[in-house]
Parts: sequence; C-alpha cells; structure tokens
Amino acid sequence: MCHGVCPRTMEHQGREHKVYLRLHGELKDRFLMIKDYLGLENDTEVCRSIINDYWMKNQDNFQAKPKLKHFHMNPDGLLVLDPEIDRLVQVYLKPDSIKCGYCNLSNCKHTEFALSLPEVKKLLEKKGWKPSS
Ligand SMILES: [Zn+2]
Repeated sequence: MCHGVCPRTMEHQGREHKVYLRLHGELKDRFLMIKDYLGLENDTEVCRSIINDYWMKNQDNFQAKPKLKHFHMNPDGLLVLDPEIDRLVQVYLKPDSIKCGYCNLSNCKHTEFALSLPEVKKLLEKKGWKPSS
C-alpha cells in the first residue's frame, strides 16, 4: 500500500528495483484519483502506469544527444558536424561577430560549440577578434 511521499528505501536486488512509497494528503488523494481513473486494482500497477506515462511524455530528455564535432577551419570560420541533423554547419567568424549558417543565429548550439574549441579560441586571440554571441 502507498501512504506517504517518500520513496524512502530503494534497494537493488539483482535486476529488480524496489521502491516503498508513502502518500499523505493531496498526493494520496491524487494517487487514488489516478488509480480510479485508470481502473487498476493494484497500487504497483498504478505506479508502473504513471512511470510509463511520464516516460512517453519526456523520453527525449533521457536520451543522450549525439555530440557536435569540429570538422575543419576554413577562410570563413569553421565547419561543425552536427550528427542530429546529419550535416555540416558553417559557422562564420568575423572580427566582431559570429554567426551560424544553419540556424542564422549568433547564439545557437553551433556557435556556442565553435567558441568552446581551443583552435577557435587561439585563432580569435591571435587575430584580436571578439565575436560576441
Ligand atoms: Zn546553429
């Protein structure tokens, strides 16, 4: 039975993960409403159903995103390989600005990534450029 708020004790037994849950007040009421709504008899089944529902809505947050890769420097700036869109993205470096040729922005993940690269930092320092994103 669930009576309170705390996933108090969690233990790993082999490949199983146990959670003991106590619910009070509003949380208990909500749980019972959800249980009623789902038409489930078993509290554990209700918990499983809530976890699955949360997963369906939020699974993107848990999957590792493919990382950007530095491809190479070129006269306009550099190329960044973005595996998520499966293409090379040109990032334009200028004395006082940086711009992404894909997003058309100065502050997207591609420009951020470009500015984090040691090669780029070195180049900007050497040229005395200060592109602000
Ligand atoms: Zn971009």
